[in-house]
Amino acid sequence: MNFNAGPATLPLPALERARNELLDFAGSGMSVMEHSHRGKEYEAVHDEALRLLRDLLAVPKDHEILFLQGGASMQFAEVPMNFLGSGGSADYVVTGAWGEKAHEEAAAWAAMTGARVRIAASTKESKYTRVATPAEADLDGKAAYVHWTSNETIHGVQYADVPRFGSAPQVCDMSSDFLWRKIDVAPFSMIYGGAQKNIGPSGVTVVIARREFIDRGRRDLPSILQYRAHAEAKSLLNTPPTFGIYLVRNVLEWIRDLGGLDVIERRNREKAAALYAAIDADAGFYRAPVERGSRSVMNVVFRLPNEALEKQFLGESKKQGMVGLKGHRSVGGIRVSLYNAVELEWVEELARFMKDFAKRNG
Ligand code: PMP
Repeated sequence: MNFNAGPATLPLPALERARNELLDFAGSGMSVMEHSHRGKEYEAVHDEALRLLRDLLAVPKDHEILFLQGGASMQFAEVPMNFLGSGGSADYVVTGAWGEKAHEEAAAWAAMTGARVRIAASTKESKYTRVATPAEADLDGKAAYVHWTSNETIHGVQYADVPRFGSAPQVCDMSSDFLWRKIDVAPFSMIYGGAQKNIGPSGVTVVIARREFIDRGRRDLPSILQYRAHAEAKSLLNTPPTFGIYLVRNVLEWIRDLGGLDVIERRNREKAAALYAAIDADAGFYRAPVERGSRSVMNVVFRLPNEALEKQFLGESKKQGMVGLKGHRSVGGIRVSLYNAVELEWVEELARFMKDFAKRNG
């Protein structure tokens, strides 16, 4: 039972397909990773992955889907490099460690180029235990973009509904809650995220961006850093992570075969409800620091009465076959990641373990 925060558990059918095809892909006598990225065998996989993602999320025609490299962290830099020109300004809404990091990277670029980066809202004073609403944000209507993080993976803080921060182009880091439910992509100028939580292995970064926004990007950057160049080359500007994209294709196929995002969302909500119920049932023992309205469906964080008990909890749960429950090193405690491929039965088993653990140690 793998509750890792990312890289995370992958659906068994996606892995089994990879295993079955590993040595002989599409009757070619070799694995998909040994094919040319310009050959017809790989091209079919690449196109299918793009098509499945477009269908599942109903990505509008005027949005491009890109498969890039460098992780979400690369996007922290690439977004300001493309869209934040000298004299320009960008807004950041910071609700956790990843939003902080995105802001820092943009600020470094702004310092080099004479641009401005503003923190339009921050929930740091709450120790990142809640999201920031558009109403409390000090937004600059003329900003080149406003950047926010839909789910803070370390702090377990997530927007329940998809907000809109003013009229500037909306750029959202969805690394840890990408494709866990249907969302309306149309209002976004850009969505990005690493694949390694909900849709595949690390090494693939998904970017969905409106074509008109991509066109605004600066043209004097090296082409590898320009979204425009990647879009024109259909994400084949240079050698893409072919095996990673192949696995993403397998995961997207699994989502489709399961019934699509409505089914995935129902599963995810059931898992989160079961886990938060277990925490709340023993609220004197387990403490969930995040405000109820900001509780994440993807990363559930909680504390025990002391660190010694947390250590014991991790040791005993591991013996029961549960891994990946240790909170991020910067915050401690317990974190349970409930990404798409985590099974409800694992969560139910964890909930039973939690009840028993609290009874024995409370
Ligand atoms: N943003 C969020 C919300 C994340 O959870 C992570 C990774 N945990 C990152 C950005 C950084 O992603 P990467 O390691 O792919 O650069």
